[in-house]
Amino acid sequence: MIRTRIAPSPSGFLHIGTAKTALYNWLFARKNNGTFILRLEDTDAERTDEQFVQGMCEGFKWLGIDWDEGPPFGDVSEKGNYGPYRQSQRKELYQKIAYQLLEKGKAYKCFCSKESLESYKDEAGNLYYPGFCRNLTPEQIREKGDAPYVLRFRVPEGETVIEDLIQGTVRFNNSQYDDFVILRANGDPVFHLAVVVDDIYMKITHIIRGDDHLTNTPRHVMLFNALNAPLPKHAHHPLVLDEQGRKYSKRLHGANVLDWRDDGYVPEAIVNYVALLGWTSEEENREFFTLPELIQYFSIERIGKSPARFDRRKLEWLNGLHIRHLSPEDLRNRLIPILEKNGFDTSTKSKEWLTKLAHICQEKLPTLNRIVFLSDFFFNEVEAYEPEAEAKLWKSPQQIIVYFEKIQDKLSQIELWEHDSLKKAYEECCAELNVKFGALVNPSRLALTGKSVGPGFFELTELLGKEVTLNRLNRAIEYLKAKEAKS
Ligand code: GLU
Repeated sequence: MIRTRIAPSPSGFLHIGTAKTALYNWLFARKNNGTFILRLEDTDAERTDEQFVQGMCEGFKWLGIDWDEGPPFGDVSEKGNYGPYRQSQRKELYQKIAYQLLEKGKAYKCFCSKESLESYKDEAGNLYYPGFCRNLTPEQIREKGDAPYVLRFRVPEGETVIEDLIQGTVRFNNSQYDDFVILRANGDPVFHLAVVVDDIYMKITHIIRGDDHLTNTPRHVMLFNALNAPLPKHAHHPLVLDEQGRKYSKRLHGANVLDWRDDGYVPEAIVNYVALLGWTSEEENREFFTLPELIQYFSIERIGKSPARFDRRKLEWLNGLHIRHLSPEDLRNRLIPILEKNGFDTSTKSKEWLTKLAHICQEKLPTLNRIVFLSDFFFNEVEAYEPEAEAKLWKSPQQIIVYFEKIQDKLSQIELWEHDSLKKAYEECCAELNVKFGALVNPSRLALTGKSVGPGFFELTELLGKEVTLNRLNRAIEYLKAKEAKS
């Protein structure tokens, strides 16, 4: 039975890179009828903030990455038989295991103070403990009395070989690792111990995580071995880079997954896009995937080794595709809160009307937020006409007035106000005025919406209704007459 996990440290929002790690673990579990676990690595009390816990869980939820086991969140209580799923609540277990290692001689007490070790560094300049307390005799230890100590893992000699499902075989010489601390003087576990103990006790079979953890892995493997625990399979995937090719900084807009929600992206597109930041499908050049399709096609073998660069344009393109893939009813439900947030009162409109609005805008939405631009004139009076469009489309006001009066006359006779009859009325006007369709439709659009682009003209006119349409044509005629009078 496959068991995977996402183990974020809740010291910040849900980063796009963490979302990617979560997604790969989730897809792998779902594909193989396995179990996906959420575990919070919140041992660092100072950096943990409940707000971040909420934000992360909300982010996963928004993306549709649901967990089978995990800590309580909102009104969902803790799930799973291997809890608690917060490291801060598992301290005693880590201490127990650390002392077991001590008893077996695989760890030892170190009495050196932090300050006394500051000058011992490896070639790369990182602190490197030279092993002063490695071979203290029981006598020497007794002499230390109540002196504070940490527990250090006794790194064995030799080599640690990792058979990574993405990176292949990676060899590490153990001498590059010092005897690292597993338990601090205050009894707090160090990340390496906690992560391994949890992975053992939660029976994790596959660890899929960012390749920034690859150099930590030998320490973990040594601990698994020291505890005689079966080794999970490792898969280290490359990090996400920003558009400039740098590590995707926390400070960048979009590093927080929920920024995309605010920007009007649908979670289906984010999940699709994030999956492609490292994984490719067997079907060459295929990029559009729904969540069920991702589950169907996902495989660790097709995750590449080189980091992927974020490409906002591609994400926007995928977002448009996913928006088009929604049913108009679904789209309507996602648009209503955005319309409301922007001060448009949707309560005066029927459900059918709002569904039609969603339908006629669907093709033109790179993001959900674009609906504000595409539909403001349905909710508010047209206060101004786009100057550039006016200069182009209403170049000869006198002529436009003639057109609009003709159109008004035709439209006022329509009884069934719907797309086809509107179109027919315009066709008749064209014939009678001997002009092309565009000569009437484009200036009319400006009169009805104040803009030169937007949803299909007859579609939007149908939705505006007869009264509003005739009023707006009237207003445009008045406006043009006033303009003429001035010139
Ligand atoms: N807490 C670690 C992190 O957020 C995850 C460690 C792991 O996946 O093993 O990077």
